Amino acid sequence: MIIIKNMTISKLLHTAKSLYVLRSEPVGLIHFLTRRCNARCSFCFIDFEDEVSQNKKNEMTIQEIQKMTSTMGKSLQHVNLTGGEPFLRSDIFDIIKAYFDNAKVNSVLINTNGSYPKKINAFVNKLNEFYPEKTVVIQFSIDSYPEEHDRIRKIPGLFERTMESYEIVKKKGKGAIPSVALTCTHENYKKINEIYEFMKNEHKVKRFSAILVRDEGVFKTPESQKQEILDNYQSLTENLYRDRTNGVLLNFYEKDSFISRVINEKEKIQHENNIKMYIKPKFISNCPSASIFGVIDCDGTVHPCEVLDKPLGKLSDFNSNFLDLWRSDKTKSVKKWIKDTKCNCTYECAMTYNVMSNYEYQPRLIKKGLGF
Ligand code: SF4
Ligand code: SF4
Repeated sequence: MIIIKNMTISKLLHTAKSLYVLRSEPVGLIHFLTRRCNARCSFCFIDFEDEVSQNKKNEMTIQEIQKMTSTMGKSLQHVNLTGGEPFLRSDIFDIIKAYFDNAKVNSVLINTNGSYPKKINAFVNKLNEFYPEKTVVIQFSIDSYPEEHDRIRKIPGLFERTMESYEIVKKKGKGAIPSVALTCTHENYKKINEIYEFMKNEHKVKRFSAILVRDEGVFKTPESQKQEILDNYQSLTENLYRDRTNGVLLNFYEKDSFISRVINEKEKIQHENNIKMYIKPKFISNCPSASIFGVIDCDGTVHPCEVLDKPLGKLSDFNSNFLDLWRSDKTKSVKKWIKDTKCNCTYECAMTYNVMSNYEYQPRLIKKGLGF
């Protein structure tokens, strides 16, 4: 997700240069604030038995995050704060503040299971007070109807709490915007389109993202179900595209604007690519991981993405200086490896930057943006 409203001309130029020419500074990052979580979803990739990653003493401190965010270059547009459950970090507001004030990001997305309405309420109040103009998308994960959702995530009453949190953001948020993430998994694929209709019609949700479950960490998708999971994900993405095009759904821009149409088309290309690659992996276009996109783990280890097991280094070895790590020989060699091997996968976050930065997609995006 790249939000360009309120962006200064200088920031816009730096970002455009990084996206299309230099590709040496991050434009978008994912930051895992913690690996701790109060839920236990059946498809989660986190190993909750791992004592090291589950110990909050091993998470980056706010001082380290402040230092890191002061050294991220001039092109960073967007950061996705995820986990684990990000609201388990009591300093989440200070972390966002560091990204806005130091790294000058334009937008932040927080993935949450929504189980802490009081914390979310306090957080939205602070955002309204200090950053009313900034876009902060709070994305709530929903897997199924209430009872089934609570069973899959193993928290009684979770659906109700998540929707309470959703309504708080919807009613009170100035720059904060609620959204729902539907992950198509072995647990819910048969009903995923019904769940979409249920959330749209009964809960009046206007913004969605569709995620295709990946084999990652300790989770592996049962092979026998992959084709059906894919078929249902495909229908879901087609329904989302239809409803965004006819104005039933929104994205993060003014309805029917140039940028809104570009973003809808970007999502469409991204979904089409994922569908082509899910069953039989194949190369489609150059992945921008380790060049304009990357992932920071909660202990300060930086990775090209969430999938490839080739860490770029640990920030503590670079005195928390992000660009020193990003321009190191190790990062350069991984970047080259990704290009030379035509690395490919269906990881949505990297695919967003893939579609936004590769020249081959630009004519189609511009054409759609102009309304053709
Ligand atoms: S809410 Fe997210 S982090 Fe927590 S167990 Fe579920 S998938 Fe994992
Ligand atoms: S193609 Fe996938 S696995 Fe390879 S670097 Fe990109 S995001 Fe990572």
